[in-house]
Amino acid sequence: MQNAMLSLIVPVYNEEEVLETSFKRMDEVMRGIGYDYEIIYVNDGSRDKSMKILRKIAKDNPQVKVRSFSRNFGHQLAVTCGMDAAQGDALIIIDVDLQDPPEVIEDMVRAWENGADIAYGKRVKRQGETFLKKFTASCYYRVLKAMSAAEIPLDTGDFRLIDRRVADVFLKMREHNRFLRGMSAWMGFEAVPIEFVRNERYAGKTKYTLKKMIKLAMDGIIGFSDRPLTLCGYFGAGVSALSLLAFLVFIILAICSVKVSGLLWMFFGLALLMGIGFVFLGIQGAYMNRMYDELKNRPLYIVAEELNF
Ligand code: UDP
Ligand code: MG
Repeated sequence: MQNAMLSLIVPVYNEEEVLETSFKRMDEVMRGIGYDYEIIYVNDGSRDKSMKILRKIAKDNPQVKVRSFSRNFGHQLAVTCGMDAAQGDALIIIDVDLQDPPEVIEDMVRAWENGADIAYGKRVKRQGETFLKKFTASCYYRVLKAMSAAEIPLDTGDFRLIDRRVADVFLKMREHNRFLRGMSAWMGFEAVPIEFVRNERYAGKTKYTLKKMIKLAMDGIIGFSDRPLTLCGYFGAGVSALSLLAFLVFIILAICSVKVSGLLWMFFGLALLMGIGFVFLGIQGAYMNRMYDELKNRPLYIVAEELNF
């Protein structure tokens, strides 16, 4: 690990209240760790004084690099842009608002020195967030875990360290609707959880509007699960089977000369037709799913180690 370099990636969207304090604390932590480092700020189309502050910080600190978007593209793309620019042997992704305590980076780096490819922050407690946010987040992560084929760890955000070889795989995944923590889980590699208490925002308000949060939640499910598509087919098959069973019962009743109302015959007739319709929707879904997979253009496989090549 001698001569290694670390890249800290910090997305920024309208964060004039926190930027200076945040930089000081992060810079101090990075300096203390003992490797060369760069801090890459990605200004995600801020409309306040963030860019002005970043210019000043960059002028006084050669280890600071700044990329600035032409408009707001969203947190996930800002982080991606920082990863594209990073030169380090390990990349660390952190929010600017000090909710992810920068001091935890040191633990992540130690895990990395001990061979971890990914060291991800796991929130054991979240301070200063509403009950509703904590509750919905907790439900969401559990639903996602149940639905997804990738092992997405519970209660983690994007706060993490990734080794260069993991970053190189990220660079190859150019899907547009990104859910970075899911992509990271999908890749595999040796991932080590680092527990931490998520603090309150240092200043300012959340930049994740409800709309942005819903978009992220959808990207997580749609990008990493085909369950919603297959569900439709299963539902159709279930309804069809039930209707056929009902018909069987009606026919037996008819043989035993018990009269069954015509309405019931009609109801189950319609249900059968609907069920068949859903089955065909499910089949279309299966094709769509494969098209979607091809479009995402993810690497087919990821080699983690090679011997005697
Ligand atoms: N952010 C961004 N673009 C956006 C929204 C947020 O770059 O469109 C940044 C923001 O500046 C912060 C991080 O993403 O560094 C997380 O945002 P925030 O703290 O507002 O989200 P929360 O912690 O409330 O979920
Ligand atoms: Mg935050």
